[in-house]
Amino acid sequence: MADANAQMAKRTPIESGCPDGFQYMHPLMTKNFGMWKYHDRPRPGVLRHVAKSGDQLWTVRAGTQRILDVFTLRKLCDIGEEFAEGHVHFTIRSNIEYMVGSEAKVKPLIDALEAAGFIVGGTGNSVAMISHTQGWLHCDIPGTDASGVVKSMMDELIDEFKKEEMPNRVHITTSCCQINCGGQGDIAINVQHTKPPKINHDLVANVCERPSVVARCPVAAIRPAMVNGKPSLEVDERKCICCGACYPPCPPMQINDPENTKLAIWVGGNHSNARSKPSFQKLVAAGIPNNPPRWPEATAIVKRILKEYKANARDFERMNDWIDRIGWPRFFEVTGLPFTKFHIDNWRGSRHSLNASTHIRF
Ligand code: SF4
Ligand code: SF4
Repeated sequence: MADANAQMAKRTPIESGCPDGFQYMHPLMTKNFGMWKYHDRPRPGVLRHVAKSGDQLWTVRAGTQRILDVFTLRKLCDIGEEFAEGHVHFTIRSNIEYMVGSEAKVKPLIDALEAAGFIVGGTGNSVAMISHTQGWLHCDIPGTDASGVVKSMMDELIDEFKKEEMPNRVHITTSCCQINCGGQGDIAINVQHTKPPKINHDLVANVCERPSVVARCPVAAIRPAMVNGKPSLEVDERKCICCGACYPPCPPMQINDPENTKLAIWVGGNHSNARSKPSFQKLVAAGIPNNPPRWPEATAIVKRILKEYKANARDFERMNDWIDRIGWPRFFEVTGLPFTKFHIDNWRGSRHSLNASTHIRF
């Protein structure tokens, strides 16, 4: 009996995690769920979904800077209340989308967004809003301000966001360290450390759990050591690949540096889809100054790559498809980027991926 009572009194588990998305959807979305006939893009920044029932749902997409202050969020919500039908969602590339049930509401909504300083676009074959990692706001190890790089670059690429004139869509990502939440992209701008970490031996014993720091190094370059009679760590600088992985578990191993922390640009990263395998991005420009607040050197290289891709790629070729077709030597030729020794992967583990056969390729 006691067991039965205990069974009765069991607390119902509290579900946590992502709430059910249906409760937030536009009523036309829930009504026509799974029963759409087709969709198209009447103009850049606007999607139209036509349901088998005859309903039409119009979506207007505007770019945002991803990390939004409360005033901007309120402004976006006010526009949604007044000019849309109170339903919005954010895309994975930080765009806000408003849904309305009639075409007549589309133009006033676009006008209101543009009057408030937002940009409508980012659909189809455009340069989508640049995605970025957390940066100074949420993370303790950034080597640069990823959102700042995004802002300065998107200021230069705004026309390509508003139009759909690229051969295919272009996804650009920026990351403020080289090892954690960095993204793959058609073009990726990542932090690149160029010097091994400097160790503050006085702090290591008090702050760092040495076995976990040793285990963290991907190339086994860190060893325990006694320095000035205190337990500390040492780095074999011939092995260190300057990845920065030891800094998060051991902040006394400082690797960020205004002079030697640079930016690097990688191209051709793409997730797999129904038609193609994943492709891994490759380094094309290294040692670019990490130069706030506008990062002009990195922006100039991104613009140069985009210009050649736009002029030379065939319709619907993504960046990686274009490079596969023309080959890397031609890519460096048309973009005018110098090919240096830093482009050659000479890490000892890379022998598995190097061309080790006698087969001659052209
Ligand atoms: S990319 Fe690195 S530094 Fe930037 S937020 Fe992610 S973990 Fe932090
Ligand atoms: S920077 Fe990377 S490779 Fe160098 S010691 Fe730290 S974890 Fe190892």
